Amino acid sequence: MDDPSETSAPASFFDLSRAELSVGLDRSFRATQLFEAVYRHWIDDLDLITNLPRALRSSLKSRVDIRPSPVTRRFEAEDGTRRYLIQLADGELAEAVFIPDGARNTICVSSQVGCALACQFCLTGQLGFGRHLTAGEIVSQVIIAQRDNVIPDLPDHFNIVLMGMGEPLHNYDNVMKALGILHDPAGLNMSMSRITLSTAGLVPEIARMAAEPLIPNLAISLTGATDEKRDRLMPINRTYPIADLVGALRRFPLKRRQRITLEYVLLADTTDSGDDALALARIASSIDAKVNLIPLNESPDLVFKRPNEAVVARFQGILRQRGVDAFIRRSRGDDISAACGQLKKKWADQPEIDLGALRL
Ligand code: SAH
Repeated sequence: MDDPSETSAPASFFDLSRAELSVGLDRSFRATQLFEAVYRHWIDDLDLITNLPRALRSSLKSRVDIRPSPVTRRFEAEDGTRRYLIQLADGELAEAVFIPDGARNTICVSSQVGCALACQFCLTGQLGFGRHLTAGEIVSQVIIAQRDNVIPDLPDHFNIVLMGMGEPLHNYDNVMKALGILHDPAGLNMSMSRITLSTAGLVPEIARMAAEPLIPNLAISLTGATDEKRDRLMPINRTYPIADLVGALRRFPLKRRQRITLEYVLLADTTDSGDDALALARIASSIDAKVNLIPLNESPDLVFKRPNEAVVARFQGILRQRGVDAFIRRSRGDDISAACGQLKKKWADQPEIDLGALRL
């Protein structure tokens, strides 16, 4: 019988922690050399890692593949936002978004194909659950967006938000593993203060994350400020109602000057009333959270509408009057369906840019 190790496809490099990579290597610093070559020098061919012995390079070829997943489509918005459709080994697609903003560039990554939570105002929710992304598929999205946007290989030049497709805490283990790989000092060396995990509010996983050695910034998608509204808009609230969520957030460990963010989608005549603002202000004050108001990104596939600017400003004003720091999140990349909640495997009708220019 054939030796299966000779026929099975090599593992994705981006799926491996440095400790996993070092298993079977003659010296532990070899894994560090590999991490530096791939994450710092962007090398995508083992033969070009010349500080590794030739024999090791060739034996590694059957074990690991250091190329990021291929990009099948890339779209560019008028504001410079770029959306990537990334081809996964099983034919599925992962979506990632690069949002340029001077010194605060952001890479937005997906944690799942589709999503199980069915939030009523979110297009990804309409897809249903496809599958979890592996840690390597999550890391790979970051690498693709980083390399394509020629960010100098300094970690301080971008933030990462887990706000693409999927519910990151539903894919807990793979997401945590990806954070560890992104944080590795021999690799991208991303500080946890530059990573934000956004969740619809999976209470047991929030508690579990509170005990991790690596804890990213936490953003909670609230959107309904009463159980009655939130039950309807975000079915997950029927399992973990607002009081339970607030309890978990109170216990969540924060560094000095760090705060939890509440994301609140403004839906005309549904979540934008004065009473909604007061209910939201009470929740935010009780946990000293700041609030990001997100006027709905509309779609023909959604029944909800975006409130007009005066309503948005009034809503923000009520929060501020109550001493809550509330910001209005400007929509980015909405002309290419790259904005929050708009990721839905959509590509045929989008302006596409030439992939020939893509050096990945
Ligand atoms: N499942 C995670 C992360 C993905 S959603 C979560 O729920 O947080 C990322 C953000 O986009 C969430 O805050 C969500 O409330 C918001 N969002 C979803 N659909 C939207 C839409 N149509 N317009 C504006 N924001 C939306």
